[in-house]
Amino acid sequence: MSTDSTKILLNEDEMPRQWYNIQADLPSPMPPPLGPDGSPIGPDALSRVFPMNLIEQEVSTERWIEIPEEVQSILKIWRPSPLYRARRLEAALQTPAKIFYKNEGVSPAGSHKPNTAVPQAWYNKQFGIKHLITETGAGQWGSALAMSCKLVGIDCKVFMVRISFDQKPFRKIMMKTWGADCIASPSEQTAVGRKILAETPDTPGSLAIAISEAIEQAVSNDDTRYALGSVLNHVMLHQTIIGLEARKQFEKAGLYPDIVIGCAGGGSNFAGISFPFLYDKIHGKNIQVIATEPEACPTLTRGPYIYDTGDVAKMTPFLPMHSLGHGFIPPAIHAGGLRYHGMAPLVSHVKELGLIEASAIGQIECYEAALLFAHTEGFISAPETSHAIAQTIREAKKAKEEGKEKVILMNWSGHGLMDLQGYDAFFSGKLSDYPLPEELLQCSLAAVKDHPPIR
Ligand SMILES: *Cc1c(COP(=O)(O)O)cnc(C)c1O
Repeated sequence: MSTDSTKILLNEDEMPRQWYNIQADLPSPMPPPLGPDGSPIGPDALSRVFPMNLIEQEVSTERWIEIPEEVQSILKIWRPSPLYRARRLEAALQTPAKIFYKNEGVSPAGSHKPNTAVPQAWYNKQFGIKHLITETGAGQWGSALAMSCKLVGIDCKVFMVRISFDQKPFRKIMMKTWGADCIASPSEQTAVGRKILAETPDTPGSLAIAISEAIEQAVSNDDTRYALGSVLNHVMLHQTIIGLEARKQFEKAGLYPDIVIGCAGGGSNFAGISFPFLYDKIHGKNIQVIATEPEACPTLTRGPYIYDTGDVAKMTPFLPMHSLGHGFIPPAIHAGGLRYHGMAPLVSHVKELGLIEASAIGQIECYEAALLFAHTEGFISAPETSHAIAQTIREAKKAKEEGKEKVILMNWSGHGLMDLQGYDAFFSGKLSDYPLPEELLQCSLAAVKDHPPIR
């Protein structure tokens, strides 16, 4: 394979057959999840929320976990995904850096999310579950799970954060096309939804509220479970197929990245591209790994490392994570998928271990980066993805100043064809930067002061 190629491709039979579990290689183990009384919980505590086969993956410390044949066969609809060399972007930046991006926008739902939606739907079906309930922010996860449930053959219901439900009508139609039921959250269908609507009828909603609604409904029926699109260990695991493929693709090109970059909401696409490379870093490779988040929702860069719940009604266990507080109502920036209050415990842990760095970037710089990307590489990026592009451009410019031929790998987590309102707002000058005010952060954190400390 020549390094002059624009795309580095793998054949279907080169697609990884196992996921990589970084829990096998952590220099120190993760703090355990805790129950409401502050003591560590076992797998059984999660059994009404998730099927046991996924809970086993959640707690596994096996390094390699087999991808079931049927799951592989569905993933092959779009995988292996191409690794692109961004030559035209490099030229526009006049950088000596070589920029590569892994195109996860080629999945039918348009992002990396089906990489975990398919196995989650499949493992639930295997376990005898008939209905999956979930929440969605911007709609990417809801549409990924809707498609996956249809392909696997189980029912799907999605609570969609109110502001996105109103801002993103096309995502709703996608979910309907794939046969799922999509409801605005907070809703009248759950006790937690009714309570929040009574207190704040015009709330824009939040992922933490929608998660509470979805879990409340899931645990009240035996043949129903809940699915989460990010944050949990098994989700990070399923996404490692991205980085495992990228590693093979770099091998074909005879190169290895100096810098690996992903945007971070709950942490899954970032973990997916980076954890297989962190394996190499833990074993002595010198690489820089950067998670980039919005300035308006700065979980990794400004949120403390604490025990917090994943939802507002405290239905999830306490998870050790960087968090802005589970009651945090994020500002209505357009990168809806990056508006979650917490960061995956695994991503938080590798940050604490100093294996990764984090940066926060304002949305104007991100849209400018996405425009340059569209003008040079053609693809229109999801607003979430634009954070990874902005960080990549920063690194490419630094490489130019330093005169270094760095190899940069970025995860292009999804396309933005369903997110054009954000571009429209940018063009009409309606967007501004919104660094999170310290008072708001402190106010949100005051509500979680009584949580148990991480030891
Ligand atoms: C959901 C989403 C993200 C953020 O979620 P992570 O779990 O942090 O990956 C990023 N990019 C796209 C395109 C998404 O749909």
